[in-house]
Amino acid sequence: MTTSATELPPFSGDNPTCPKCGNAGAHTRYLTERQYMPYPSRARPYIEHLRRECTRCGHTWPEATIEQRPPTAPETTELRG
Ligand SMILES: [Zn+2]
Repeated sequence: MTTSATELPPFSGDNPTCPKCGNAGAHTRYLTERQYMPYPSRARPYIEHLRRECTRCGHTWPEATIEQRPPTAPETTELRG
């Protein structure tokens, strides 16, 4: 596993599971590195990221943008049939 510039979790889709209340669904907002917003957790990204906000309890957490995915896909899933 290589350590990239970001340690944010990857984008979890349109209906992520809130780590606090278990609700499936969260708003998504793109923030640049200058749009720092505090998070309840210790994760404090100073880079561009996606800010997720639970639609039920309002818990917020940062996620990486899809651009921050590793460029090389280590997963070799070649389906041959
Ligand atoms: Zn929640």
